[in-house]
Amino acid sequence: MKQILIISGKGGTGKTVLTSSLAALAKAAVLADCDVDAADLHLLLHPVVKGTQEFWSGQKAVIDDGQCINCGRCLSLCRFEAIKALKNQDGSLKKIEIDPIACEECRVCYYTCPVGAIQMEDRLSGLLFISETKYGPMVHAKLGIAEENSGKLVALVKQKAQEIAQAEGKRWLIIDGPPGIGCPVIASLSGVDLVLVVTEPTLSGIYDMERVIDLAAHFGVLTKVFINKCDINWDNTRTIEEICQKRGIEVIGYLPFSEEVVQSLILGMPVVEYSKGMIAEEIITLWKKIEAIFQKEGKS
Ligand code: SF4
Ligand code: SF4
Repeated sequence: MKQILIISGKGGTGKTVLTSSLAALAKAAVLADCDVDAADLHLLLHPVVKGTQEFWSGQKAVIDDGQCINCGRCLSLCRFEAIKALKNQDGSLKKIEIDPIACEECRVCYYTCPVGAIQMEDRLSGLLFISETKYGPMVHAKLGIAEENSGKLVALVKQKAQEIAQAEGKRWLIIDGPPGIGCPVIASLSGVDLVLVVTEPTLSGIYDMERVIDLAAHFGVLTKVFINKCDINWDNTRTIEEICQKRGIEVIGYLPFSEEVVQSLILGMPVVEYSKGMIAEEIITLWKKIEAIFQKEGKS
């Protein structure tokens, strides 16, 4: 089983457009959406959820109102202003309350409450879904509101997808990666056979591309670059080519800006299914090149 990770360094470069079309072309694939902060692959692949798993990570402080004597010590000690005093209409103290979103689990309140009214409880941080699509099984997730993306949920999504791919004898694991270069991306890089960096010819696109290329190089993963909307600024497209040439990285494909892509997004389908035109041809060519990489290297 070969793992292909599609990343861009930031959102909005066409990463999910490309991932969905590769999913449609790959046939024997498991799909993983590791962009757990802003998952959107489901909008194009329409998964039917078959199983849900809770994702617990970290803890939060919780007050037992029955034990609290309203002394206010925790209120004055919380550095993160997560503890509030609720007042009655006459201004008298009603109760002490902890905002679970603001709590940074430092445990100061837990250790200093004179009557032991505060407990640290596990935090439900998100949900993981195992689904079926017409293109194959898909693993995706939803991080809870204001929950921090440490990369643990990304690692879990990948692990589940790998398990399914191995159990079902799938040839490909196609991963829609998270944005940025932080822990979630590092978690998504583990065990990957090919990183496909999707970029666009803008200054920010070039900057983000270089950062993710550096990251992939640090982990020694084979990397290729795909330029989306290559015709919006040919000077910048040439700059991307030069950067890649200096680094010994192949620019494996190009897509011009296209209304076909826009229409396929509106209809919620991979562009290779929406159109049989030039855009679809370019992506089919890209997929053939990816298959050839592994055939050539004797890896398949
Ligand atoms: S320190 Fe304990 S008893 Fe005092 S207000 Fe906080 S929770 Fe209540
Ligand atoms: S654990 Fe720390 S951050 Fe959370 S409420 Fe208690 S003192 Fe504040």
